[in-house]
Amino acid sequence: MNPSDVTPADALVIVDPQIDFCPGGRLAVADGNAVMAPIADLAARFAHVVVTQDWHPAGHSSFASSHAGRQPFETVRMPYGEQVLWPDHCVQGTPGADFHPAVAAAVARAGLILRKGQHRHVDSYSAFFENDKTTRTGLAGYLRDIGVRRCVFVGLAYDFCVAWSALDARREGFAAAIWTPYTRAIAMPLAQGTTVDAIEAQLAAAGIAF
Ligand SMILES: [Zn+2]
Repeated sequence: MNPSDVTPADALVIVDPQIDFCPGGRLAVADGNAVMAPIADLAARFAHVVVTQDWHPAGHSSFASSHAGRQPFETVRMPYGEQVLWPDHCVQGTPGADFHPAVAAAVARAGLILRKGQHRHVDSYSAFFENDKTTRTGLAGYLRDIGVRRCVFVGLAYDFCVAWSALDARREGFAAAIWTPYTRAIAMPLAQGTTVDAIEAQLAAAGIAF
């Protein structure tokens, strides 16, 4: 599938195109700003556009600063499973939580701006479920109601919020694809490879094109 194959049953889901995830931001994804203008152009091809916005209260449980003695990018056990600790980012009402200016045309086209991560005790990488994997955001119901059958995911960061959203789209019965030229990754090192390698194995197993 490529941009010329878009149908009226497709939705473009633009994940977290925010200042804090771009170079100079609090949780910068390398080269993240480079995808913003192309995403704005791409959105014009879709009848349905959804934008997600990471939107944390100050002191959110996913922030390393909320855990004494812990550093960003370490992991902790939460009641709902393992959680990466992040630098403070996308705090509600701060400039870093704003959308990148180059993606403004896509935000203007969006039928829905979905905020996530606003509950203090659970993070939400996915646009469909919080990280407890049971609390829904309402996105699946919205997409079904407007007749969407396939979701195309772009935005930041590829190996966390974009990929988790695509995996959950499949769980919810939608076809799903990630257009990787419109994404950038954090690529945290793991014991073997990086978070990109780990998540791509899951994407392939779920039948998600990327
Ligand atoms: Zn976040």
